[in-house]
Amino acid sequence: MKVKNISFLLPLQALDRQIYEYNKDIESMPIELDHYKKQLISIKREILDSKNKIKELELKKKNLDLEIGGIEEKIKKISDLIITAKKLTNEEYQLMLKQKSGFEADKKVIEDKWLEIETEIEHTKKSISLKEDDEKDIDSQISVKTSEINAQIKDLTTKKNSLDMKRSELLTDINDEMLKIYDRVLNSENTNGIVLAKINHQAKRKKTSTFEDFIYSCEGCSMELTPQDVNKVLMADEIIQCRNCSRILYMNEQPQLT
Ligand SMILES: [Zn+2]
Repeated sequence: MKVKNISFLLPLQALDRQIYEYNKDIESMPIELDHYKKQLISIKREILDSKNKIKELELKKKNLDLEIGGIEEKIKKISDLIITAKKLTNEEYQLMLKQKSGFEADKKVIEDKWLEIETEIEHTKKSISLKEDDEKDIDSQISVKTSEINAQIKDLTTKKNSLDMKRSELLTDINDEMLKIYDRVLNSENTNGIVLAKINHQAKRKKTSTFEDFIYSCEGCSMELTPQDVNKVLMADEIIQCRNCSRILYMNEQPQLT
């Protein structure tokens, strides 16, 4: 198969490069939502944690209510006793008063704790309500962003489809065997939609009398090519691929011999 005019693959290459870019953009677009989705997950977790915290605090408050109730009963009993008991010695009377004020002090300590918890509950509720506002904001940002992205994807897909059609028109002029190799390189990883690689050359010395006086490299991966490979490309008897990146090599301009 003579491949002299490999440059007729260049329009196909140009199309495929563009199609590759469109595909990349289409695939990467939904990733823009990840940032918002992560935010949403973290805020939902925070809200749940805060709600659990409130449950715990309510339970603590309930236990303190029971404790307060118990102490109030003791205070009532001792107050009743002080009023109804007869023939109390002054010493007994002072002892009861002391006990009663001891209970009242205990009650005060627990009531202070109760108030502290109540304040914490109120504070937590406020923070939940702020977080729920944030959650709504992020939700609506996600839905706005999603429709933007969907519109962009739709637009890119239309453009890509029209290139796909142009591509199939181009294919009718291309030899099957060549196309097979071309497509294999196109679909292999790391070629980034670039199948054809120009051979670059650089003079090794001032006087260049043969092709051996140049260093050749693949434009696709910068790997140095042997003069033998370059020669094969020039003979154009077969498709020559870069040994490193597999791209199909072609020569745009031949080195100038002096
Ligand atoms: Zn290469």
